[in-house]
Amino acid sequence: MRISDSTLTEDVRVRILKAGAADCGTVRTSALGNLPALPPVVICAAFSYYVREDADGSTGKDTEGNRRIPRIARYARGRDYHLELIERLTPAAVYLTEHGYTARILVDASPVPEVKAAVLAGIAVRGINGLAITREYGSRVFLGCIATDAPLTCTEHNFERCIGCGACVRACPTGALTREGVDVTRCLSQISQKSGALTEWEARALIETGTLWGCDRCQDVCPMNRDIRETTIPAFRERLIHTLTADDLRGLTRRTLSEKYPDRAFTWKGPAPLLRNAELLENDGGRPCPC
Ligand code: SF4
Ligand code: SF4
Repeated sequence: MRISDSTLTEDVRVRILKAGAADCGTVRTSALGNLPALPPVVICAAFSYYVREDADGSTGKDTEGNRRIPRIARYARGRDYHLELIERLTPAAVYLTEHGYTARILVDASPVPEVKAAVLAGIAVRGINGLAITREYGSRVFLGCIATDAPLTCTEHNFERCIGCGACVRACPTGALTREGVDVTRCLSQISQKSGALTEWEARALIETGTLWGCDRCQDVCPMNRDIRETTIPAFRERLIHTLTADDLRGLTRRTLSEKYPDRAFTWKGPAPLLRNAELLENDGGRPCPC
């Protein structure tokens, strides 16, 4: 007996929520832009990675409470989200293929504009900082999608934006973020991952903000991230790495870095940018934190 479209839609949703997603929704691929190579429906799911700063053991200061510790951004402290989300979306994808449909899991490196998909699927609004902001978990979520030719029910949602308070724009330490968007060449997240030598301005920006890898500032100040729930996903709660020293990194190759820190998103560019950043911050003498 052929399963009805609404049952199929609900069965997929149940499998994704059971896999730990905060929420999921479906959107027609045609609503996302010109994506002819993709099947006609995109399922978008949000998975929280948020752990309170005191709960995850990170205060941002040393034990004397007065020195800035080089920070790894929250998203990169736990297991690599690409690996985790692919595993968590697999049961729903397998369910679809067992019913004769194609199902392609897409996480991050994909043609799908994920934030737009999340907004049109009704699970988030778009922040001025360009991130998807969910109701219960704010913007501290990873997005993962499944593109499928299954006849899933798509509910049309309006493209909604955040409350527009501008706190993220004011808090951005480099001026990368404006109401018009993000200038990635000035964004600390991009700069910290850049290969090769940094300009003097880029190096100062990392030093003055204690940035080792990634940046959370525009999310830290967002009122839509206040009082959000913590993740229940063990991979994003346990064995978190908040910082690394130059000694942790010296002498490592791309292979030995991945062996020492397996399944971590911060290893994808190899040891060079991390070591460069760690040495920059350490050579600055651990100046007292002004914040
Ligand atoms: S991640 Fe940091 S540097 Fe980049 S836009 Fe947000 S606050 Fe600015
Ligand atoms: S800080 Fe304000 S303007 Fe920025 S994303 Fe959050 S709600 Fe939107």
